[in-house]
Amino acid sequence: MLSELDQILQKALQELETAKDESSLESWRIAHLGRSASLMLLFDQLGKINKEERPVVGRRANEVKQTLEAAFTKRIESLRQSTLQRSLQTERLDVTLPGRSLPLGRLHPATISMRAVIRAFGDMGFQVYRSPEAETDDYNFGLLNMPPHHPARDMWDTFYTSMPNVSLRPHTSPGQIHVMRQYATEPIRAILPGVCYRYEQISTRKETQFNQLEVLAVGKNITLADLKGTVSDFARRLLGQNIRTRFRASHFPFTEPSAEYDFECLLCQGKGCSVCAYTGWLEIGGCGMVHPIVLQNGGYDPGKFSGFAAGLGTERIMMLKHRIEDIRNFWANDMRFLEQF
Ligand SMILES: [Zn+2]
Repeated sequence: MLSELDQILQKALQELETAKDESSLESWRIAHLGRSASLMLLFDQLGKINKEERPVVGRRANEVKQTLEAAFTKRIESLRQSTLQRSLQTERLDVTLPGRSLPLGRLHPATISMRAVIRAFGDMGFQVYRSPEAETDDYNFGLLNMPPHHPARDMWDTFYTSMPNVSLRPHTSPGQIHVMRQYATEPIRAILPGVCYRYEQISTRKETQFNQLEVLAVGKNITLADLKGTVSDFARRLLGQNIRTRFRASHFPFTEPSAEYDFECLLCQGKGCSVCAYTGWLEIGGCGMVHPIVLQNGGYDPGKFSGFAAGLGTERIMMLKHRIEDIRNFWANDMRFLEQF
């Protein structure tokens, strides 16, 4: 029986050498260590041999079994190692190679500028009011104290639509009438942001579409001092505590008195440079006290109420801040420009 055990061991070890993959190793395990393997059958026969031989044969059978199990484990380990090595060779991964970066979206510079302006006025208690981009002639001009054939209409080169009496808004001022008519006779502190359209000769300073923001305050005892304080505070909130502002007399049909307001040049701090044409000041927008006729058209009694309005182009603020020399960049969709913000 001992020699039979040796044969089993020799045969099994030889066959193990030829097993080249996991499935043939598994077949080997079933053949030599499984229930019906000759080694296992031999264990069953131990009871039949005589008492003197039994411990010797039993011990040897156990040794053979352990040897085969150890050989099997070793073989399967080395097979797994070589499989791993092979896949490392063939599917080589260069971990030092930089990954593909995902392009990160960002806000459009026109949006960045608009939000900064809205935030500054929001902090002062003004609320955003949205009004339509296409308006009737009345809202665009008539109710703003510019009846048909009024010469002041020439200041706004308007896009007319195929619908009679409807044009794209050339300024955000029609929103003044909307907000007043909705809230009369409550006090108003509103900002009216949005895109305006003008039939312009496109140049580095003029585009056919641009963002404007209108400021409107209506209430009792509102004076020019409130307008000046609000504009100055806005400048400080947007551009820092030390910025200076100034008013210059002007004319608009829907405000009386009217003014243009300037900020001290952001680039030269008032010393004078090419951007401010060596004046030290930058023109920002127009403003004034709401004209009594406009107040009346909005539903407010000009005898009891007063108000101020101001407007500015938000792209212009961005142009001044970042020294952008061509307004056409805003809508040209050139990534080289847009990625700088
Ligand atoms: Zn300057």
